[in-house]
Amino acid sequence: MKRYFLFFLLLTALPVFQCGENKLRNQAMMIHERIWTVDTHCDTPMLMERGSFDVGRRHPSGERGSGKVDFPRMADGGLDAQFFAVFVGQGKRTPEGHSRAKSYADTLINQVKAACMRYPELAELASSPEDALRLHEAGKRAIFLGMENGYPLGKDLNLVDYFYKRGIRYITLSHNGNNEICDSSTDNAGPEWNGLSPFGVKVVRRMNELGMIIDVSHISDQAFYDVLKHSQAPVMASHSCCRAFCDHPRNLSDEMLIALKENGGVIQICFVSSFIKTPPPNPRLENALKKLEEKYGNYYEIDDPELKENYRNEYYAARRKYPVQRASVEDLVDHIDHVVDLIGIDHVGIGTDFDGGGGVEGCDDVSELPNITLELVKRGYSEEAIEKIWGGNFMRVFRQVIDKSENRKS
Ligand SMILES: [Zn+2]
Repeated sequence: MKRYFLFFLLLTALPVFQCGENKLRNQAMMIHERIWTVDTHCDTPMLMERGSFDVGRRHPSGERGSGKVDFPRMADGGLDAQFFAVFVGQGKRTPEGHSRAKSYADTLINQVKAACMRYPELAELASSPEDALRLHEAGKRAIFLGMENGYPLGKDLNLVDYFYKRGIRYITLSHNGNNEICDSSTDNAGPEWNGLSPFGVKVVRRMNELGMIIDVSHISDQAFYDVLKHSQAPVMASHSCCRAFCDHPRNLSDEMLIALKENGGVIQICFVSSFIKTPPPNPRLENALKKLEEKYGNYYEIDDPELKENYRNEYYAARRKYPVQRASVEDLVDHIDHVVDLIGIDHVGIGTDFDGGGGVEGCDDVSELPNITLELVKRGYSEEAIEKIWGGNFMRVFRQVIDKSENRKS
């Protein structure tokens, strides 16, 4: 039984202690229980691939090595569907680099599929809106696959079809660096294609034809506008925030949000603290991380698992030594409010980026997701509006992407 449901029972058994806050909490938990909820981005497959993380087991929240998502904690947090990102960090754009990226993507896909097979009573791999609804009724978690970074495609358009057949339902066109498809918003070298490359235009068209969602998180502003120009279907930013509150190139400006509305798409608000609220300068941390990169090189190009682990340990040690002030649930919901104020209730959702840097004060792992609903209730959002934010808007986009592809086939 879900933990928060037990909490609810406890509260109703002790009405004498109920105060306004508890009433709101009860209301939020009931809504959260009733609606269909989806998180469009977590990087948990990275943990699974290391071999020591068992996604079917409940890990103690907040402990090192516990990660932020597992199937039992998804149930605790009332999360019905989760997109597991097949994330491949940007490496060398050579035939060897591309082939290595493809094979790593395959490994991650295999890991997620194997985990679903190991725990059929808890979760099942899903690839369509119908799957998600069926699993919701069965009380099981729906696990979708998305690909973060189109790098594994290299320059081969056939691989869009290949990964679609393997179950991938969205592709984030780039990550932190430019690739063969488009420019990234955060490549130190600046733009290379001035948006989408000619190959990128073909990728967008093929994704439209297949019914794959185009994910515009991470890509440059010009690439974003190019995608909107070429895509026949609504798009999604699977994990991004608003530049109005935090002027980071990973976030969407108001102008981009207005264009997203015209496209019919959706922005899934990300839980990475430094995208929610600009942190105070932390030069000692920046210096330590820079030194680490000088010592080890590009993390994503390290082959030796031991070296990789050393890098990770030193990285987390530096972050513990020079902690970053984190954003709160209230700060995060400010971004939802902003999108709603600017472009309406139909274009916003949730994309946590748990296990990829996501986590705020008050919602640090999947089991704490009802705290987002509580904050929405406190701010006066109706159940209908909360349902749209938690999954209705994403589902509309997903269906439209599929419908457009089928229309074209007929
Ligand atoms: Zn990301």
